[in-house]
Amino acid sequence: MKRALSPLSDNVFDLAIIGGGILGAGVARDAAMRGLSVALVEKGDFAGGTSSRSTKLIHGGLRYLEQFSLGLVAESCRERSILLDMAPHLVTPLSFLLPAYAGDPRSLAMLRLGTTLYDWITPRRHAATPRHRTLSAAETATAEPCLPSEHLHGSVLFYDCQMDDARLCLETILDACRHGAVCRNYVEVTGFRRSWDRIEALQVVDVLQGDSFDVRARCYVNATGPWIERVSQLSSGNAARIALSPTKGVHLVIPRINHEHGIYFQSRRDRRMIFLLPWGDDSLLGTTDTRFDKVADKVRPEMEDVEYLLDQLRSLAPSHAIQVDDVLTSFAGVRALIHSKRNPSRRSREEQIVASGDNLLAVAGGKYTTFRAISDQVVRRVYRMLGQRAGKCRTAEAGLPNLRPAASGALLSQSPKVCESDIAFACSEEMGVTVEDVMRRRTRLALSRHGGVEVASPVSHIMAKSLGWTDGTREAYLAQYLRGWKQNKPWE
Ligand SMILES: Cc1cc2nc3c(=O)[nH]c(=O)nc-3n(C[C@H](O)[C@H](O)[C@H](O)COP(=O)(O)OP(=O)(O)OC[C@H]3O[C@@H](n4cnc5c(N)ncnc54)[C@H](O)[C@@H]3O)c2cc1C
Repeated sequence: MKRALSPLSDNVFDLAIIGGGILGAGVARDAAMRGLSVALVEKGDFAGGTSSRSTKLIHGGLRYLEQFSLGLVAESCRERSILLDMAPHLVTPLSFLLPAYAGDPRSLAMLRLGTTLYDWITPRRHAATPRHRTLSAAETATAEPCLPSEHLHGSVLFYDCQMDDARLCLETILDACRHGAVCRNYVEVTGFRRSWDRIEALQVVDVLQGDSFDVRARCYVNATGPWIERVSQLSSGNAARIALSPTKGVHLVIPRINHEHGIYFQSRRDRRMIFLLPWGDDSLLGTTDTRFDKVADKVRPEMEDVEYLLDQLRSLAPSHAIQVDDVLTSFAGVRALIHSKRNPSRRSREEQIVASGDNLLAVAGGKYTTFRAISDQVVRRVYRMLGQRAGKCRTAEAGLPNLRPAASGALLSQSPKVCESDIAFACSEEMGVTVEDVMRRRTRLALSRHGGVEVASPVSHIMAKSLGWTDGTREAYLAQYLRGWKQNKPWE
């Protein structure tokens, strides 16, 4: 796949989207499938922002029931069923145990009530996510031997889904391209050309080569997640804007503790709910939820985040608890939550879509799980702005094809399974441009125990061959990746 930028500058599109996270990707695919001509520009790599840093769950969000967000939970449960059918290679069912111990903030009876409501609220039950059931203390300890049986009252077993967030975003972009959209990574919006209340063009710069040019369209969508206020400021109109109260969330990749289920446990320290998930041969532990006031590019896991999560794990499973040095890696992301004075964990996960001027929409908030439904709403608003009748949204029925060929060539890692052909394919067909793109988002190598130089180096050599890099370019991209990888290990 050649990274030609002239299709961006040579056309006037119906719609130009800023931001290649899951919301931008979802809007691009939906609009292109309905027949609009679409451009999308992303300043880094697709899914390089929040959309590769989530807990990687497609879920109803059991805990939002406590906040009476019944509409959000019902919509999320409906979308969970749709996404299971739409991308079965990326969204897979997962069983969860919700244990209750003496002294926990929520009793077993409360957990049963919550999961009953969760089942009841699901509009279209998918066979892969059956209803919950209650397990006795003995059954719980057998199902997940890492859970101490002392003071255990039992657990609730329920179903949600796990996903590959970075690939779901990328494959949504690639499918948008197959429907005619022109989507490019490493193209940053630096300004807007306006005439009165109308945007005439986006001023963009090719981040890799430094060239500047304009992208023209009849309508624009700002889907830049935690950057949305900054990008809105560039448009300099006096119209309505989205205001955010962002929070930071950190996850740790740790040696495998849980057996086969996800464990959703209660913090006795602050009542928060924490996930311990199966993650290949390892486990994923998260997340934190703390105020974040810096630029989203600066988000990093800090030692206090790592210690907070390890403390929670110690109080859940003291005999299986692990030390800082055992942690394999970590990652941090920023939630673009709509402005609120509530404490971080209680801020709304609802989305907001705001029109400004004649032809600019901004969209932020929501959950990964609801991206398809949010995209549908945005595209309908785009049609209204264009003064046209919207065609039918077809994204629920049209599956995302799994186009990666069977793996071949040298085996780079067994878990996750990555072969030489996956790297070459990421470069030739999936717009992988840097070592970071391929290690972190085309594959999950960076989020595994194989994220270090011993695998990154052969990956960089395969990329050099595919993309025709000089030695200097290869070394620079490898060094850039390893710097980022080190920043995710604040304990070293
Ligand atoms: C810790 C954490 C855990 C989460 N867990 C879950 C979960 O398990 N399930 C779930 O459903 N949701 C979850 N979420 C929420 C979910 O991840 C987000 O709702 C979703 O990823 C937001 O996508 P987005 O497209 O709005 O933003 P982003 O993914 O951040 O995309 C915005 C993009 O805009 C680009 N951009 C910014 N400025 C410019 C510019 N000037 N020019 C061009 N491009 C630009 C950025 O580079 C970025 O890629 C979680 C969020 C966090 C932080």
